[in-house]
Amino acid sequence: MDSRVGKRAVVLGGSMGGILAARVLSESYDEVLIIDRDVVLGVTGTRRGAPHAVHAHALHARGHLILEELFPGLTDGLTEAGIPSCDLGEMRWYLNGRPARIARTGLLSVMAPRPMLEAHIRARVAALPNVTFLERHDIAGIVADAAGGRILGARVVSHDAPGQERVYDADLVVDATGRGSRTPAWLAELGYPRPEEDRVKIGMAYTTRHYKMEPGMLGEGVYSINPVASPAHPRGAFFGTIGPGVINLSLTGILGDHPPTDDEGFLEFARTLPIPDVYRAVREAQPLNDAVSFRFPVSVRRRYERLRRFPERYLLIGDALCSFNPVYGQGMTVAAMEAIALRDELRRGGTPDAATYFAAAARIIDTPWEVSVTGDLDFPGVEGPRPMKVRIGNAYMARLQYAATKDAKVTEGFMRVAGLLDPPSALMRPAMVARVLRHAIRRPRPGESWLAAPAHAS
Ligand SMILES: Cc1cc2nc3c(=O)[nH]c(=O)nc-3n(C[C@H](O)[C@H](O)[C@H](O)COP(=O)(O)OP(=O)(O)OC[C@H]3O[C@@H](n4cnc5c(N)ncnc54)[C@H](O)[C@@H]3O)c2cc1C
Repeated sequence: MDSRVGKRAVVLGGSMGGILAARVLSESYDEVLIIDRDVVLGVTGTRRGAPHAVHAHALHARGHLILEELFPGLTDGLTEAGIPSCDLGEMRWYLNGRPARIARTGLLSVMAPRPMLEAHIRARVAALPNVTFLERHDIAGIVADAAGGRILGARVVSHDAPGQERVYDADLVVDATGRGSRTPAWLAELGYPRPEEDRVKIGMAYTTRHYKMEPGMLGEGVYSINPVASPAHPRGAFFGTIGPGVINLSLTGILGDHPPTDDEGFLEFARTLPIPDVYRAVREAQPLNDAVSFRFPVSVRRRYERLRRFPERYLLIGDALCSFNPVYGQGMTVAAMEAIALRDELRRGGTPDAATYFAAAARIIDTPWEVSVTGDLDFPGVEGPRPMKVRIGNAYMARLQYAATKDAKVTEGFMRVAGLLDPPSALMRPAMVARVLRHAIRRPRPGESWLAAPAHAS
């Protein structure tokens, strides 16, 4: 049976969502064209179109499994390039200021910097015989037929010929231009309603700096130390090795409490984390670059699945559909899951149906969105309704996180849900509830900051 469904698919954006979409589209279209404003091929560092990529990016277990399925041997390639990996449960996680029990989860965490991970995947996609990259081209819009019911291609402008638009015809166009996607405006121009948006204001910022890795900096056999933000300790950090001789420190601050970029302010922010380990490791360390900041004011979910009318031969993937609070580390994995949903839709035969695909994508997004929004609403300063489900969910999670500091089995269950492998309901199974309540019948008090104990405050 011929699995081809069309001649050319055009993907708008060549970042994580775009290259994963291209990988699955290459099975069904004669030609796949990926368009990006940046030079992307061979790039292993941060680029203008994806400035967030310099900050800590963890790949969840579910995402890792999908990437390995789409690109067999990817993990080995990264390991050969010197990228460290370890069991997710063996990282040092601090929940509410307390260390989670170390657990063997069997889930691999590959600590590739995001640009490096993307470069390895992009090289594999570029090696596919029917995939082409069109770099240094701005996407100006989409082209529809006279009735506006079907998308026929994309309008682009080369950086070498500003002012001259060119149209690339397509049998399918996929928008993977990230959270700044202009699809809502393009739809409005064609007479379609804009999608509803769910928005949660979190006023988040990451500030990141790389340091020269010194022996013993993290502790024997330790790959990363992650004091995760919580309402009692809203300042967080992701601190870990990301390659030979390099250690990454991303400081996170919510609700406008943004980690500064100047040397002194950055270090002082690190000092005020609930645990001393990060500050002590970096205060004398050799920085490899200046600190850079990225602001993420609001999480946005666009509800395309609710639109009654939508043009044919047009889809979206990745952050263009939903951009989550980054501290939960969900975006790349959700993009990978959406790519699988797109492949499923293509394998049904014929041009993918937008309504079916958006419904599948919505089901994928539902859980991570609920997890991150519920977690955010535990912070009293985050605006939004707090129905009983949210309050009970957060009351239970506080107990569960405490129990994870006492019981490795709870850590493991938590990591499987955070890694998007198991549904949150797995944490409500009787055996897990029993483990949680054994340690925390009442909501536990948060762990104390080390600064609260003057003897340690050096
Ligand atoms: C600080 C931070 C930390 C994060 N940490 C994690 C993490 O730990 N784990 C995780 O899974 N996710 C994380 N994420 C989320 C993750 O970065 C996104 O989910 C992911 O980047 C989505 O990829 P994308 O391809 O959809 O969009 P993007 O990465 O935003 O890419 C969009 C692409 O489109 C191109 N483009 C846009 N507009 C145009 C145009 N008009 N013309 C031409 N090209 C255009 C851009 O150049 C870019 O290449 C984090 C995000 C942030 C902000």
